[in-house]
Amino acid sequence: MMAVLIVAGLDTGGGAGLKADIETVSALGEHPLPVLTAVTYQNPFEVRGYHTLPSEVVREGIRAVKDGFEVKAVKIGMLGSGEVARVVREETAGFPRVFDPVIASSTEKKLIDDTESLKTLVPGSIVTPNVYEAEALASIEIRSVEDMKKAATALVEEFGAEAAVVKGGHLNFTDVLYWRGEFYEFRGEKVEGFTHGTGCAFSSALATFLAKGFELPKAVERAKRFVEGSIRFSKAESKAVNPLWEIERD
Ligand code: PLP
Repeated sequence: MMAVLIVAGLDTGGGAGLKADIETVSALGEHPLPVLTAVTYQNPFEVRGYHTLPSEVVREGIRAVKDGFEVKAVKIGMLGSGEVARVVREETAGFPRVFDPVIASSTEKKLIDDTESLKTLVPGSIVTPNVYEAEALASIEIRSVEDMKKAATALVEEFGAEAAVVKGGHLNFTDVLYWRGEFYEFRGEKVEGFTHGTGCAFSSALATFLAKGFELPKAVERAKRFVEGSIRFSKAESKAVNPLWEIERD
């Protein structure tokens, strides 16, 4: 079994964050090593707030894991603060690192106190922004696949990412990967279902497929298909777990 380090926040609603990451790595047959950065207070309708852990707690967690396991890949999600971002950058340098630059929830609650600090984790990372995050990081307006390519190129050529996957789930369901001077397009279509936490699942699945030894484009393809499958499955599941969801929506 391959060990995958997960650095992420906890969603009390059980949909996104560290729980989704653990489930993803486990579902793909590898071993999750969870290091918590922040505790959120949320349910599927709203993120009420969050509390970020002291950065030394995060540092000690990552160190303990590195000293006891052969970490094959790292997934970084919600960081909560610029201070935690700095510690995570220092402690994960040199590892294959998938970085999901979480800025805000879909309900538009900010999940980091210092958005600029996210840029410091881009160098050397495989960065997986959605279109909003890519717009914020690269300062490029995204309306098309061509714009996604421009943002992905900027994240690699200007910001120093190892690779960039700009995810089009909010735009056209196509994901664009830019890696070693080449573009790869992964077309998808709208899948009906519960999408909360799908960004977390995608980056965890990507880290897990890299840990298994897949080359990056194949790992992205597999991660995308895994998430599409999870969304399909979630439809029936989420209604059973959370009847309030339907009441609110109808
Ligand atoms: N809560 C936590 C702990 C997260 O890590 C994230 C996203 O990464 C979210 C909430 C937001 O999820 P969504 O964008 O699906 O609302």
